[in-house]
Amino acid sequence: MTSNVETSADRAAQATPIIELRHVDKHFGDLHVLKDVNLSVGKGEVVVVIGPSGSGKSTLCRAINRLETIDSGEILIEGQPLPQEGKELAAMRAELGMVFQSFNLFAHMSILQNVTLGPTEVLGLPKAEAEARAMELLERVGVASQAHKVPAQLSGGQQQRVAIARSLAMHPKAMLFDEPTSALDPEMINEVLDVMVDLARQGMTMIVVTHEMNFARRVADRVVFMADGAIVEEGAPDEFFDHPTSERARDFLNSIK
Ligand code: ADP
Ligand code: MG
Repeated sequence: MTSNVETSADRAAQATPIIELRHVDKHFGDLHVLKDVNLSVGKGEVVVVIGPSGSGKSTLCRAINRLETIDSGEILIEGQPLPQEGKELAAMRAELGMVFQSFNLFAHMSILQNVTLGPTEVLGLPKAEAEARAMELLERVGVASQAHKVPAQLSGGQQQRVAIARSLAMHPKAMLFDEPTSALDPEMINEVLDVMVDLARQGMTMIVVTHEMNFARRVADRVVFMADGAIVEEGAPDEFFDHPTSERARDFLNSIK
């Protein structure tokens, strides 16, 4: 843990950002989905992205992992441009954990196999070592007792926690969460958010797209509000939620109350 004197904002100012977007533009046909997006996420920072449906939040996350290409601008990971393809791209993707709304676990594999696959296949870890580390991670997210089941035998909340463990097994530099609790029954939301709160407290660099405003208030270093493909406003959570300056943000916050 870092000392509590140095804030994450201080660290962000000092060091090369883990993730940086410079003047990123993206169209889908005639639709301008990312408009001159500039975003810098420092080591250990937690940035929560909110905004109406269709505002480009998922496209932003997917662009960072190069699941989507961009038309212009730059995306840098620790100061390095995103590789275009091949082994370099695969290696970079492994360094950015991504957790989606749908859990995306491999249905025919056990929970343990889901978590060991990347480390054995991509990182080349021996099986025993990968399994030991996987069990630690499953323990950490509270599903170790489910290790030998298949995903369909688990609740949605448990599956999403496995998906987080699976990402962590790759030792990511940062984690991207795209509405990780939106597909969950209400009683399962907190068990997933609690895992994310722990991760944040342990210093993980995170971008989180979510509609969970309590989570944003508690955990975010910065809230970024997107509308129509642009970052309209950003700020510290209390400042943003209590005194939004743009009308778009005020309307959005009123609409979700
Ligand atoms: P959000 O995650 O904020 O709801 P998205 O990034 O998913 O927004 O989408 C932004 C806009 O881009 C929406 O209008 C959506 O319909 C459109 N869009 C997303 N993906 C595609 C795609 N693959 N092809 C065409 N349009 C897309
Ligand atoms: Mg989305």
